[in-house]
Amino acid sequence: MRAVVYDKPFSVTIREVEKPKILHPDDVIVKVTTTCICGSDLHMYEGRTGAQAGIVFGHENMGIVDEVGEGVTLLKKGDRVVMPFNVACGRCLNCEEGKSAFCTHVNPGFAGGAYGYVSMGPYPGGQAEFIRVPFADFNALKLPPGTEHEEDFALLADIFPTGWHGVQLSGFKPGESIVVFGAGPVGLMAAYSAIIRGASEVYVVDRVPERLQKAKEIGCTPIDFSQSDAVDQILKLRDGREVDRGVDAVGYQATSGNGKTEQPNIVLESLIRVVKPTGGLGIPGLYVPNDPGAPDSAAAKGYISFPFGKLFEKGLSIGTGQCNVKSYNRYLRDLIIAGKAKPSFVVSHNLSLDEAPDAYDKFDRRVDGYTKVLLHP
Ligand code: NAD
Ligand code: ZN
Repeated sequence: MRAVVYDKPFSVTIREVEKPKILHPDDVIVKVTTTCICGSDLHMYEGRTGAQAGIVFGHENMGIVDEVGEGVTLLKKGDRVVMPFNVACGRCLNCEEGKSAFCTHVNPGFAGGAYGYVSMGPYPGGQAEFIRVPFADFNALKLPPGTEHEEDFALLADIFPTGWHGVQLSGFKPGESIVVFGAGPVGLMAAYSAIIRGASEVYVVDRVPERLQKAKEIGCTPIDFSQSDAVDQILKLRDGREVDRGVDAVGYQATSGNGKTEQPNIVLESLIRVVKPTGGLGIPGLYVPNDPGAPDSAAAKGYISFPFGKLFEKGLSIGTGQCNVKSYNRYLRDLIIAGKAKPSFVVSHNLSLDEAPDAYDKFDRRVDGYTKVLLHP
């Protein structure tokens, strides 16, 4: 079958790879109908991780069940499903408590598993014609048959739940104000979640015009940090009042206002300045622990400096980590079905697998309006 394979920094190619097989009675094989490119793929694509050549990318996958292992009881051939990016066993203590991103079973030595991701276990990605789904009764969410809401449902694999989770991690309550740093797919989904959940004011910080425009269209106040300091702009708009909650949807690849100089601590510093005393910070943006294969930098080794004393003085709480997609995807699916959420406003491109190399390049450079790319193998 054909798949998107990582070659070397800034290069992926479409190659023939072996079609996945059932390896365990709890597996299913899914024929992929939609698979998305994620900002998280860019960490590997840009060579900022220890990813080895030959990895099949793709952790945001949906499709039709094609083969069913004999231990699977809830799924049958022909079912339409979307898979959380997390691979989880459903049986360990963390899974039982709803923290499927921290499954202790699927990827010993690391916190949690994922498809197509360096250090997140032996699970090839779904930017391919087929994907093997382990512990399938737990890891596949059934969808209504047909093709309706394909774009919306595809976003249930990661970014819609992850945006929602970012807001949740900040301790947000209806009526509060919130600022989201990053208007990439995750930041836009966090902003959209805050709106659905009744935020009084949502500020979204980025420097890419098309992304800020999308934030504006859903009712947020866009803040362009290439113009001047984002915190100064927000405080000025609010007569000096800080906001209640903040979300970091950027992570350690943050840049300063010119878009070029890497400044991995800028978003944390800004959040600590702009959020009110006793407020909360949700951090879905990725910060890596020590990645031995990554280029030498403090941030790649997991060291980020930020003013902890100010955070302490303000009594701020912080929530971090990968999203437990499984604990939100069912409810968010039902909001989509009920017509109460339409996250696909973030989708900019629907492409074939063959177009993936060009799409990676453009999405990575954030040019030509590439905001969220869906591939259809
Ligand atoms: P993305 O790279 O498309 O978006 C990041 C955005 O941040 C870009 O639009 C960029 O212009 C902007 N940005 C850069 N520096 C900034 C700054 N100083 N201030 C404000 N904005 C700035 O990526 P994405 O797909 O939206 O993902 C965002 C982050 O979330 C990534 O780190 C990704 O790895 C992470 N992520 C985490 C989870 C999770 O489960 N926690 C899941 C998916 C993605
Ligand atoms: Zn993702």
